[in-house]
Amino acid sequence: DWVLLTGASGFVAGHILNELLEAGYKVKCTVRDSQKFDTIRNLRPLYRNALDYAIVPDVASEGAFNEAVQGVKAVVHTASPFIMVDNADMKKTLLEPAIEGTLSMLRSISQHGPGVKRVVITSSFASIVDLSKGLRPGHTYSEKDWNPVTYEEALHSTNGSFAYCSSKALAEKATWSYVREHKPHFSLKTICPPMVYGPIEPHMRLDSLNTSTADIYRLINGSEKKVPETQFYAWVDVRDVATAHVRALGAPAKPHTEEDRYFVTAGNYTYADICQVISKRFPHLVNSGMTPNPAGVPAAPPHYSVNNSKSVSELGLSYRSLETCMVDTVHSLLKLEAAS
Ligand code: NDP
Repeated sequence: DWVLLTGASGFVAGHILNELLEAGYKVKCTVRDSQKFDTIRNLRPLYRNALDYAIVPDVASEGAFNEAVQGVKAVVHTASPFIMVDNADMKKTLLEPAIEGTLSMLRSISQHGPGVKRVVITSSFASIVDLSKGLRPGHTYSEKDWNPVTYEEALHSTNGSFAYCSSKALAEKATWSYVREHKPHFSLKTICPPMVYGPIEPHMRLDSLNTSTADIYRLINGSEKKVPETQFYAWVDVRDVATAHVRALGAPAKPHTEEDRYFVTAGNYTYADICQVISKRFPHLVNSGMTPNPAGVPAAPPHYSVNNSKSVSELGLSYRSLETCMVDTVHSLLKLEAAS
């Protein structure tokens, strides 16, 4: 059976692609140009015949997915900008591609994808967290929580992190409204990961890493002199996120009235915890000043907790540890550095 994977050139999508292929699916990848597909396919020589592609230069344009959705049984939609730039044109850079990109994909399936039975969308903890409540000590975030941001607040924000979170929340809300209103022929599930870390593919470039990996690279390349303040206090390994998407494809459908979201997180963490792992497993990076020394860093301020029990009970997920994740992430970055 063919599955459509949007944004296949991305960090998270690369891991989803591997899991889909290993699970026996054939995958049609959407990419912005054919060179990106060639790179994806060359990295997976065993699966040449299980890969196809469709060019989608801009997800936000109406009808962008009309051709791509034909002939597939399921869609995994990851394509959405993850950029946090202050004072940007938030409508063009974030809100339109996130919201319109998702809605245009759903409309294309409704009109041109009669064979699609299941859609899985990569949403985010960004659509769960209520930023107006700060670190919210005592609160435990789960799928039941929603970021209450409005479109107007997002549009007029100059803060890149706030606008990114808004784009994800508004896109996911628009998705569930679409499903409630149109009762389409497919069922929907959303995956909500917090900060996603893990090994990167060898074709990635150190000067254009995806946002979450760039955060880790700054912790090992001498850019950060002190352990930086943690932005979001929850994380997950990219391989567990990939497993969640693939299991969500096969999980039983729920009624359209139920917002079937999965908060996919390994738990709380801080950047100091990451530096601790690096100092234990790669001590030369701390000794040479490439990684900030975590010794003596004050404890994190009280902050929210997270609850991943739905993902464990319904998708059977078990989560990798921060140490495993960071060792693999740092190894992959050092390997890329040595090769470049
Ligand atoms: P990447 O930047 O690596 O991947 C984003 C993908 O989306 C790329 O394939 C990119 O194409 C594509 N894309 C972005 N905008 C457009 C557009 N306008 N038209 C067509 N394609 C577009 O980021 P991640 O892998 O980190 O993110 C993937 C998904 O996961 C996103 O939905 C993100 O919000 C979500 N997520 C990520 C988290 C993380 O920590 N990484 C945390 C929570 C959610 P191209 O390569 O050509 O630019």
